[in-house]
Amino acid sequence: MIIELPVTGVFTTNSYFLIDSESNHGFLIDPGAEASKLLNYIRENNLIIEKILITHGHFDHIGAVKEISEALNIPVYVHEDGKKYIQNTIWNLSSSCGQNITIEATNYMKNNELIKLEANSEIVLRVIYVAGHTLDGVVFYSENEKAAFVGDSIYNGEIGISDYYGGDLVTLISEVKHKILTMPEDTVLYPGHGKTTTVRRLKNTKYD
Ligand SMILES: [Zn+2]
Repeated sequence: MIIELPVTGVFTTNSYFLIDSESNHGFLIDPGAEASKLLNYIRENNLIIEKILITHGHFDHIGAVKEISEALNIPVYVHEDGKKYIQNTIWNLSSSCGQNITIEATNYMKNNELIKLEANSEIVLRVIYVAGHTLDGVVFYSENEKAAFVGDSIYNGEIGISDYYGGDLVTLISEVKHKILTMPEDTVLYPGHGKTTTVRRLKNTKYD
């Protein structure tokens, strides 16, 4: 079960829960702001969040990580090249928005790694490294759920933005073509901002 919960700081970001409805265990992806709103949701629905997963280290995707990871005592997963973003307010863009956000990660992910839910190993996400928006971008892909959490590699149904530190449009287009458009066409793409799309719809959108 996938639950979208938008949170608003400087921007509005889609936070996602991937939950096993049998055990109520799951993952929280990109808690970007509003820690208390997310914590209330978790408590009201008796969710047991095993891990916080981050698609990339921009401040609007990590703003509530510290508070939630400390409140629930759970680990935080970031791509192995994410340190320069999560620990640097210039690279993660928080300083340019008048904020001062840094976090610590407990686990650094590698491309192709599998992240399994402890309560149900059928809930599994493949980490797919997708550069171009940042240098630490990943997509979390679930074959069973026909879902991919794409961060800002896809922005509101279209190819993402590449003009921040470590971004590059040629790389982003190539990465999206080779790593996202090659997924099954009925895969739903859950972006960091705006509405969902599908691989099929994205293929029919002008992206180069
Ligand atoms: Zn971003």
